Amino acid sequence: MATRDDILMELGLSPTWRLRADAARGFQAGSRSSRTEVRDEISQPAMSDVDVRRARIGALDWPALYDDIGACTACGLCRTRKRAVPGVGDLRADWLFVGEAPGAEEDAQGEPFVGQAGKLLDSMLAAVGLARGESVYIANVLKCRPPGNRTPEPLEVDACKPYLDRQIEMIEPKLIVALGKSAATTLLGTEASIASLRGRLHRYGNVPLLVTYHPAYLLRNLPDKAKAWEDLLLARRTVRAASAS
Ligand code: URA
Repeated sequence: MATRDDILMELGLSPTWRLRADAARGFQAGSRSSRTEVRDEISQPAMSDVDVRRARIGALDWPALYDDIGACTACGLCRTRKRAVPGVGDLRADWLFVGEAPGAEEDAQGEPFVGQAGKLLDSMLAAVGLARGESVYIANVLKCRPPGNRTPEPLEVDACKPYLDRQIEMIEPKLIVALGKSAATTLLGTEASIASLRGRLHRYGNVPLLVTYHPAYLLRNLPDKAKAWEDLLLARRTVRAASAS
């Protein structure tokens, strides 16, 4: 169990000290006694609940992370989901694919991309010589299904993001592929269209990131499959270059 000091250290906040306002006022007055008071009245900065939760999740290992996701009640989706869907695949994968959120079939099975969109994703992986679980990890921005597959709410994304960040941190992928608008918006912090973001490399922290169309969109917009294919070729070149360096 991480202590408060561990958490502060993890966040780069320790050792950090803050003067209490009355002590700081005394120090400005400059008397010898007020200097003594300053030394006595230092205190650590307060952490918000969000920071504490993020730091706690940031210290979890894989089994604890999966347990935590399964028990999470940070947003209302836990009330309507059947199963949480943490992610699946190689825990040291070169490739990390990030979708939006589980759909009905994923919610029933507890695994991402197992429905129609998942079948297309598997074909896309196969087209570049990849397979689910073989140097590939598949996750979603949200680990729980939004009712009726509605678009994730910003508060739900904020609540779930520490899980994805911890997955990225532990996997250390050579490339993240953001599948569709929700993943691109969450990871790049932009509302820009997929059309304007795809076809070039971005970064998430120190990890290269590519944006492409979501497989569910491609099922409805067949002509854009050619663009997704171009994106996958760029993705493959990127991973190969990273592996060679
Ligand atoms: N769509 C997604 O974004 N993720 C899934 O897991 C399934 C469908």
